[in-house]
Amino acid sequence: MPIETIFDTMEYGTAPEDRSVALQWIANHGGLIGPYVNGAFAPARDDLTIRNPATGEKLAGMTLCTKDEVTEAVQSARAAQPDWQKAGGAARARVLYALARLMQKHARLLAVMESLDNGKPIRESRDIDIPLAIRHFYHHAGHAQLMPSALSDRVALGVCGQIIPWNFPLLMLAWKIAPALAMGNTVVLKPAEYTPMTAMIFADICSQAGVPPGVVNIVTGDGSTGAALVDATVDKIAFTGSTSVGRQIQEATAGSGKSLTLELGGKSPYIVFDDADIDSAVEGLVDAIWFNQGQVCCAGSRLLIHEAIADDFHNRLKARMDKLRIGDPLDKSIDVGAIVDPIQLQQIQALVQANTAGQTYHAQTPVPEGCFYPPTLITGLHPADTLMQEEIFGPVLVSTTFRTPAEAVEIANNSKYGLAATLWTENINLALEIAPKLVAGVVWVNATNLFDAAAGFGGTRESGFGREGGWEGLQAYSKPRQPLPEPAQVTPFTGQGAAADDIDRTAKLFIGGKQARPDGGYSQAIFGPKGQLLGHAPIANRKDIRNAVQAQLACGWGKTTGHLRAQILYYLAENLAAQTNRFAERLDAMTGSTTGAEEVRAAVDILFTYAAWADKFEGRAKSVPMRAVALAMREPVGTIAALCSDQHPLLGLVTPMAAALCTGNSITLCASAPFPLAATDFSHILEASDVPAGVVNILTGPQADLAPHLGAHMGLDTVWCLSGAELTQEVQARASSNIKRVWQGAAQDDHDSWLDAGTEIKTIWIPYGE
Ligand code: NDP
Repeated sequence: MPIETIFDTMEYGTAPEDRSVALQWIANHGGLIGPYVNGAFAPARDDLTIRNPATGEKLAGMTLCTKDEVTEAVQSARAAQPDWQKAGGAARARVLYALARLMQKHARLLAVMESLDNGKPIRESRDIDIPLAIRHFYHHAGHAQLMPSALSDRVALGVCGQIIPWNFPLLMLAWKIAPALAMGNTVVLKPAEYTPMTAMIFADICSQAGVPPGVVNIVTGDGSTGAALVDATVDKIAFTGSTSVGRQIQEATAGSGKSLTLELGGKSPYIVFDDADIDSAVEGLVDAIWFNQGQVCCAGSRLLIHEAIADDFHNRLKARMDKLRIGDPLDKSIDVGAIVDPIQLQQIQALVQANTAGQTYHAQTPVPEGCFYPPTLITGLHPADTLMQEEIFGPVLVSTTFRTPAEAVEIANNSKYGLAATLWTENINLALEIAPKLVAGVVWVNATNLFDAAAGFGGTRESGFGREGGWEGLQAYSKPRQPLPEPAQVTPFTGQGAAADDIDRTAKLFIGGKQARPDGGYSQAIFGPKGQLLGHAPIANRKDIRNAVQAQLACGWGKTTGHLRAQILYYLAENLAAQTNRFAERLDAMTGSTTGAEEVRAAVDILFTYAAWADKFEGRAKSVPMRAVALAMREPVGTIAALCSDQHPLLGLVTPMAAALCTGNSITLCASAPFPLAATDFSHILEASDVPAGVVNILTGPQADLAPHLGAHMGLDTVWCLSGAELTQEVQARASSNIKRVWQGAAQDDHDSWLDAGTEIKTIWIPYGE
């Protein structure tokens, strides 16, 4: 185009990035890529074709790793793990540092390859994906260095199987591999079928950086390769991808003892209040939903706009959409690149075409032929419409309006997901009131899509569990130094005869702050070691669980202050201590031991301990490399149920209760089945101690009957399985119903682990400056 014409039209020219180095890299590998195992590339096969989505051209052929090849990779990781752990944090830090340096040296190649393989604009891969991936390795080199001193009570898990999606191929690899290696684990990683290329360059870099053979292994393939990795003898599975595959993995790993973290889908709200800086909010929205063609798990794909400014906002947004440039991802002046694959494009098209609600607006901008989809806005939707609820995973924004902040929160939280949320307002008081109320693992205030290695990222509800990044991310790649022994199974005593008391006292369940008869109307006789009848304990059933969880959901305990929670825990301790003799006698009578008084004193002590922690288990302000504070707030995980152990009938009940209450959770305690009477007695202590109704519920009866219902219950966020592996498996097998967290407990005195299990980090990002 002649310069004269350009001055007239002010049109952008093209600014193509050179692809030759990336293509040469592929040619140097014979046009074929395959697994990287034990420090070397294995011979590759042309089983699958890797294409450039922008042009459809073949980039390379790829090996579809078989089960045996996955096993070989896991064996290599297993063999390398002890030495890698023994090498120590400082040695690992140097390797991670070398990885970061080498990635920096090859940053351009990585960025070009990422855009060729995934279709994302080079502007994004060059300025966001690759720098963030590098930052992850630098940051975790530091964590490796600090591990011996800062995390001296934790050790590596062992071999980690890691499965990543196609939307941020190298960044997801970095999020998975850097913390795993820092903590002394070895890894087998499976990149997505569509986008394995940068993982292959990373493998090359591992060899250059002196990563010992077997520490990093990469297996290529499709979903079947991922499934084989899930089945392999690994110690952990870390998965990022769709909620449906995450659910399958949760079911497949049930009862295997494998640690699990899931980073799944989202339908994140983008809330704009009427006092927002509208132009900034429009620009933020461009990043929220058209970054990476909307193929982002935390995309701000649900616009909630204050009714008073909706028309103005939509008009400005449409004007901005019309200016977005769609085209060749390797053109440096392109805003929106290619959709990752024709199959993904078809899914986006099908979802939009099936929608009949609202008004659909496609950006009035040229869209090239092929795997491209125009930025799209659908306004006037009802919160219950399919497209307001389902993840589209494409450049499609849906919009609805609200009138009050309370309504905005209600609509925002009306989702099965809980990954991220964005809010725009010039009123900091409003922002800081709303941010904690949003059900999301990450909240951005007057900004969007901010990420950093120091700040945890992850979701809640069906967006998964576990955090990636920061100190909190290290939990998922380490475990307490002292292994937790499997609790011994206790057989209930049998006997016959009448109770020693002359007045019959019928123990009841404790639900919603009241003594409650069991729904089924059955109870069981409890005998002492000499066969004497001690009393009857009610047998709870599925409906009693339902009632207890309903009471939990209504109790509002999570909104109380740490100070109030401490006061109530102290009051419980006070009232229990006053009844020491009664409880000690009950415990000795049930178990035949003489340590009842000791156990009561320990229970009082644990109540004091968690009362002490209630206003001291704090979050952090993260040091992120930008003008922003990232607040890591500890939020309660929500509604917990616990299967209590038989070992210490009172202490085993009071410990999970105190830890849960301390961190702002409500809890339903399924008491020890052979020794339930200390629990039913304890309900009187709860009644006398100002514990609000529904915060603690106590059920008795065979735990094996209750466990499956706890696992499947949609209202429970977490089940603590403290009574052994068998019931853990029962619960885990059903926990995928709502992607529930399942935790197997920690040593009595490992307070940090109990407190961590009761909380999840919410990261609230607040940029500052004009
Ligand atoms: P998947 O969940 O299918 O894929 C994620 C990863 O898991 C890939 O490496 C995939 O392998 C692998 N995988 C697939 N099936 C299994 C299995 N049974 N066991 C173990 N691993 C498996 O996501 P898709 O890539 O198919 O995308 C589908 C939808 O998922 C998208 O439309 C989007 O909604 C969502 N998604 C969410 C992401 C997020 O970050 N939360 C990221 C990507 C997708 P392979 O790719 O080789 O099939």
